[in-house]
Amino acid sequence: MIYIGNHLPSSKGFYAMGKMALKLNADTFAFFTRNPRGGAAKAIDPEDAEKLLKLMEEHHFGKLVAHAPYTMNVCAAKEDIKEFSRNMLCDDLERMEYLPGNYYNFHPGSHVGQGAEAAIPMIADAINLALRPEHSTTVLLETMAGKGSEVGRSFEELRGILDLVRLQEKVGVCLDTCHVWDGGYDIVNHLDEVLDEFDRIVGLDRLKAIHLNDSMNVCGAHKDRHQKIGQGEIGTEAMERIVRHPLLQGKPFILETPNDDEGYAQEIAVIRSWMK
Ligand code: FE
Ligand code: FE
Ligand code: ZN
Repeated sequence: MIYIGNHLPSSKGFYAMGKMALKLNADTFAFFTRNPRGGAAKAIDPEDAEKLLKLMEEHHFGKLVAHAPYTMNVCAAKEDIKEFSRNMLCDDLERMEYLPGNYYNFHPGSHVGQGAEAAIPMIADAINLALRPEHSTTVLLETMAGKGSEVGRSFEELRGILDLVRLQEKVGVCLDTCHVWDGGYDIVNHLDEVLDEFDRIVGLDRLKAIHLNDSMNVCGAHKDRHQKIGQGEIGTEAMERIVRHPLLQGKPFILETPNDDEGYAQEIAVIRSWMK
């Protein structure tokens, strides 16, 4: 089995997200640690966090997959953006300790003309600065579509970042199905080979979570436009193979599809039917 859930709005607090997840028949979820477009994070209510942890335990939730804001770019060319992003990463990891033992996923970043070779050590540096031995969170690098100057499209780039991280046991990868597909990995016709390649280059023990999205574009398009499950170029059959794949069992799967609550409840129901 897998854990399944979607992105939930964090504006009403942690416990409200837990209740919402239950309503959608989810047993994990994702949320932005602050406004996805940036800005200051609001103060955490420790009691609210406690209540969510209790609810998660009662209902046997899988690990949560928190998401960093899109504005975070720890390999930006502009020093002020880079600094702002590094501070945000530090702050977010402190805040994650209110929900101990979960995942924090972020986009490795865009090198904006500096080249991936220059960006890779910057990304690892930021993780080394923010992540401390007492932290209980596992930091995940998201596989990217390769839009613009995004770093992390190839498994080699992700490996390059991971190799430079000091606290090896606290880092992993979140595989976004739309992104790897758009990035050129044919998970429709060659899922086993792609997972095999991931294992050879990154290591499957590093793979902690899945973003389950269909794609509006063809394999290798480098576009990153998510589609509803089964309505895109990846399609229902490939999605079902991914959900049922023996190597992916036990992981949290997060939907980032263009849906309203009703649509998410339906997708979750369909995916649950595949798990049987
Ligand atoms: Fe993402
Ligand atoms: Fe994603
Ligand atoms: Zn995306």
